[in-house]
Amino acid sequence: MASFALIVILSVIGFISAYPSPEGYSSAFNFPFVTKEQWGGREARTSTPLNHPVQFVVIHHSYIPGVCLSRDECARSMRSMQNFHMNSNGWSDIGYNFAVGGEGSVYEGRGWDAVGAHAAGYNSNSIGIVLIGDFVSNLPPAVQMQTTQELIAAGVRLGYIRPNYMLIGHRQVSATECPGTRLFNEITNWNNFVRSEHPFPFCSRECWKGSPPTDTRPITKPVPYVVIHHTAIPGACNTSSQCMQDMRSMQNYHNSMGWGDIGYHFCVGSEGVAYQGRGWNVIGIHAIQANNYSIGICLIGDWRYEAPPAVQLATTKALIKEGVRQGVLSPTYKVIGHNQVMATECPGTALYQHISTWDNFQPGTVDFTKYFDKIKKT
Ligand SMILES: [Zn+2]
Ligand SMILES: [Zn+2]
Repeated sequence: MASFALIVILSVIGFISAYPSPEGYSSAFNFPFVTKEQWGGREARTSTPLNHPVQFVVIHHSYIPGVCLSRDECARSMRSMQNFHMNSNGWSDIGYNFAVGGEGSVYEGRGWDAVGAHAAGYNSNSIGIVLIGDFVSNLPPAVQMQTTQELIAAGVRLGYIRPNYMLIGHRQVSATECPGTRLFNEITNWNNFVRSEHPFPFCSRECWKGSPPTDTRPITKPVPYVVIHHTAIPGACNTSSQCMQDMRSMQNYHNSMGWGDIGYHFCVGSEGVAYQGRGWNVIGIHAIQANNYSIGICLIGDWRYEAPPAVQLATTKALIKEGVRQGVLSPTYKVIGHNQVMATECPGTALYQHISTWDNFQPGTVDFTKYFDKIKKT
C-alpha cells in the first residue's frame, strides 16, 4: 500500500516536471505551473511592460467561476475568465497576472512581464493573483493557499516583486467585496500583509474615473481639523456604481465653478466605500477660511432628518484614523461640522448631532482667522 502510494507520488512528480515550462520558470517553481498555451488561452491583443520589482501583491477571488479541483476544470475556468475579460470588458487579455486553482497549480495569466487589469490605480506597480473560487464564506483548499504563497515567494526570488512588498486584498483599494471576507481574513495572517493601505473599502480617482485635477496646492501637515459635510444633493447612494456617478457629477459641477477639482478631500457612500476626492496631499475647497487647515469629508446624502447608515459612519471614522496613521492629520485633530465655520445647514442636523458625540469633536464656532494668527505667533 505504502509503496503503491510512493509510486503514485513519484509518477505525479515526473508528470509535473515533464511539463514544458517557459525559460527560467521550471527551476524556480516548486509547484505545478500551467502556461497559457497549456490551458488553451488566447494571445493578448496588446500588452504594456511591467516595471520590476513591483511594490504590491493584490489578492483576488474569482467569485464566479467557483473553485476548480482538476486541471481540466481549472483550464476551463481560465478560458471562461479570459473570454469574459476580453469579450465583455473589452480588455486585451485576462486581467490577472496569475491564477491559482483549487488543485494547487498556478495558471499563467498576463505573467510577470505585463501590466494587469485587476486593481485600478495599482496595476502598474503590482502582481495580481486570483484564487479561483468564491471565498466569501468558505476558505480555499489548503494547497491553493500554499501555492499562492509559494508563487509570491518565487516572484521575490526572481526579482519581480520587492522583498519588502505589501500584500493587500482587492477590497483595500477598490469598491469591491473581493477577495471574499473569509479569504480576506485569512490573508491578514500571511507574510507582508499590510492593513495600512486602506482597512476599509476604498475607491481611488481611477476607480471612479475622475478627471485629472488642475488645482493641486499642497496642504501643510499635520492638518489640525476635519470638516464634515453632507451633499444634500445628490441624495444617498447605496450602490457603488451610483456613488461613482455622484462623484463624477460633483466633480463636473465643482470644475464648472472653476475649482480645478472636486472640492472635498474624500466622500463616503452609504454602501460604506470611501471615495478619493483631492486626497491627503492638497488643499481642498469646501469650507472657506478653514480650507488651509482642514481635511474635508463629505458623506454623500441628505442628513438633515436621519443619520447616515452605520457602515457609512464607520468608514468615515476609519478614514480619519488612516489620515492620522499617515501623518496627514495631527494626532490631536479636531472634528467639526461645516456649520461651525460658516452659516450653512451642512452637514445636516441629524449628522451634526451624531458627530457631536465623537471623541475628537470640538463644539462651538471656530474662528479660523484667529487660528491662523495664533499659529503665526507661536
Ligand atoms: Zn478582485
Ligand atoms: Zn458642507
